Amino acid sequence: MAKSKRKLTVFGKVLITMIGILFLVLCVLLSQLVIQLTKPEEKAPSEQEKVAQEETKEIEFSDREKAYADAHPELSEEEVIKRVAMNLDQEPYSNLQEVQDLDSDLLLVNKYYSLPSDYEPADLVPVSSSGENGTVMMRQKAAAAFEELVQASAQQGFILNACSAYRSYSYQEGLYNNGVVNYGQDYADAYWTRPGSSEHQTGLSVDIRMDNDLSDLDAVRSHPQYDWLLEHLADYGFILRYPDDKQDYTLIAPESWHLRYVGKEAAQEMADQNWCLEEYIFYKK
Ligand SMILES: [Zn+2]
Repeated sequence: MAKSKRKLTVFGKVLITMIGILFLVLCVLLSQLVIQLTKPEEKAPSEQEKVAQEETKEIEFSDREKAYADAHPELSEEEVIKRVAMNLDQEPYSNLQEVQDLDSDLLLVNKYYSLPSDYEPADLVPVSSSGENGTVMMRQKAAAAFEELVQASAQQGFILNACSAYRSYSYQEGLYNNGVVNYGQDYADAYWTRPGSSEHQTGLSVDIRMDNDLSDLDAVRSHPQYDWLLEHLADYGFILRYPDDKQDYTLIAPESWHLRYVGKEAAQEMADQNWCLEEYIFYKK
């Protein structure tokens, strides 16, 4: 009897301890509940407040972007960032960087990126549809693509040919220096690119004639099939490199006759988005 009484006492102790623990747990849970219930409700920001937050969120400009934005208050912040990325805040030719990706169809040559003076593409081939200046040369794939465009043009009922394509550094140097001697540097810079900064040295560019109209390079613009040609350039991997509405980015006056091979995919995207090469590189790289 005494033994079972003792057992009961042990059982009682365990029970009391268990109840004690349970009580403590309940207290903790209850206090958490009270804290949650008495906490002030966090209000989600209204649409109006969100817009206000967006408006006051400042874009972090770099020093160059800040200087450019101050000098061009008419430009949006996005436009400032885009133009500074294209180096347009710097004087043309003042800080030339050497083109590195010489084998890329998308290589960029302009007044900020120049080709080495000894650069000559290794795969130059004659363009069979050359014009009045005799046989001109292009890089192999650009020449092949141009011939396809020539064939398509013939089916459309007009003659397309190339009057100028690859030009060496020294040839461009002669053109430019001749311009400086005869007309002064400002005029020469407006009409000829300096050697190393001419796209013609890439072997991917071609100046065209339509139906052998030699009156003026810009004569292509008034050819009845010129719009057809522009619409189909991308099918053959070409772009109009210096369009009328992109001079702010290319720094080259519109050239209705100067085509550049970039490959079909890039050409199509540039056509779809109305991007020049500088913009394509800004958005895609
Ligand atoms: Zn040209």
